[in-house]
Amino acid sequence: MPQARPRPEDPVDHWKTRYLHSLNEIEQKERGWSEVERLLRRALGRMALAAVEAHPDLASELERLREADRENAESPRFAAIASDLADAALHAPAPRKGQGGTAMDALRAAGAVTPEDVLVEILHRLEPREAEGDTVAELLDRLGRPVLPVELPALVGAVADLVGRVRRGLEEEKRGLESLLSDVSERLAELGDNLSRSRLDRQASQAGRDTLHEQVKQEVAGMRASVERARDVDALKEAVRSGLAAVETHVGEHLRVEGQRHAEAEDEARATSERLVRLVAETGRLRERLHRARQRAVRDPLTGLYNRLAYEERAAQAFAHWRRYGDPLSLLVLDVDHFKALNDRYGHAAGDRALKAISDVLAGALRESDFLARHGGEEFVALLPKTGRDAAANVAEKLRQAVEALQFQYRDQRVAVTVSCGGAEFRPGDTPASVFERADGALYRAKQAGRNRAELD
Ligand code: GH3
Ligand code: MG
Ligand code: MG
Repeated sequence: MPQARPRPEDPVDHWKTRYLHSLNEIEQKERGWSEVERLLRRALGRMALAAVEAHPDLASELERLREADRENAESPRFAAIASDLADAALHAPAPRKGQGGTAMDALRAAGAVTPEDVLVEILHRLEPREAEGDTVAELLDRLGRPVLPVELPALVGAVADLVGRVRRGLEEEKRGLESLLSDVSERLAELGDNLSRSRLDRQASQAGRDTLHEQVKQEVAGMRASVERARDVDALKEAVRSGLAAVETHVGEHLRVEGQRHAEAEDEARATSERLVRLVAETGRLRERLHRARQRAVRDPLTGLYNRLAYEERAAQAFAHWRRYGDPLSLLVLDVDHFKALNDRYGHAAGDRALKAISDVLAGALRESDFLARHGGEEFVALLPKTGRDAAANVAEKLRQAVEALQFQYRDQRVAVTVSCGGAEFRPGDTPASVFERADGALYRAKQAGRNRAELD
């Protein structure tokens, strides 16, 4: 029967077709041999009954059987002849006692086909599997030597048993084929899954896929060639098995390479994200350090107030704002009275504590929007946004009173601390430096007027 030529891109269908064909063959053989076995066993029964004797019909049946074999007939036809043989045995006349020599002997002498010949033919056609090889050889050997009619039933029985075993072998082969076929389908489905997973991964490079496709195509072509050449089921199985193994190796290699590529890409991504995290952390730490450094740069460590540098920056900003919007802006300069004397009497450390206490009092008395700095030594400066001259005078007075009220103590002894204050409001044509100068002038007047006073320019 000519095979439908499978499309090249359809290797699975191709294997399936071949397998179904093999299965079909096995089933056909199985049916044929089952009939042969049945008939042999029937003949055996009859022979045991009749102690088979030569019969003219038997001779002609045996001749037909031999012809059938020569024509390489299919098993069913062979079985039909075996059936006739059984019928002949069935109708064989009972042996005539006292007769010298049997009809069988006569047949043999005439060179006609004998039951031994039929058994030999059956054995030759059996295609026994390896396990039955020895039994076949033994039986052929026995049938090659003269057989007495009384020995014939045992030999027919042995051949019938053998046919039965071959039948069971065919059944096993069929099951093997079926499981192999489902195995093939499963493995191909798995391969497909793996491939589509690797496709979903989006990591498989086009080049890798092309190589894989080429390799698989070659393997499938090789497999097809082996399958075409395969003459028997075992060769066919082997062809498909080795072909599948090769395809699996290629796909495995492809997936391994892709997996490695994927792992490398993942490692890189992980390393990059780790670098990013480190960078972010480092940037954070750097920003913190910069912030602290900047704080150090603009803060006075003793009092915690802004320093002169910060004051100058803020004065410039406030000045620009004042020039642009024209809101009133005032400035106060404060100086601790007789601070040298305090230092001298209570020591430098007490002086430091006094400076810190004064700073806290001044800062607490000012508004959030005001700006206070230690200008240097025991001198402070305050910028008062949205504050005109009169309001600034009030603030100056408030600050003076707050310091005067400060309960500064040295060794349980209250030490009087006061400040003098001079103030000035920004006026057209002013610069921060000119306003500072006028405020400093007012401070000087406050000192001159007796200290612990506030003077406005
Ligand atoms: P006046 O009332 O005229 O301002 O007198 P005064 O003594 O306060 O003025 P003077 O300028 O003569 O002295 C200022 C003193 O302040 C001199 C200096 O030792 C002291 N001083 C400056 N900075 C600090 C500091 O950080 N700590 C301490 N303990 N003393 C300081
Ligand atoms: Mg001073
Ligand atoms: Mg002073």
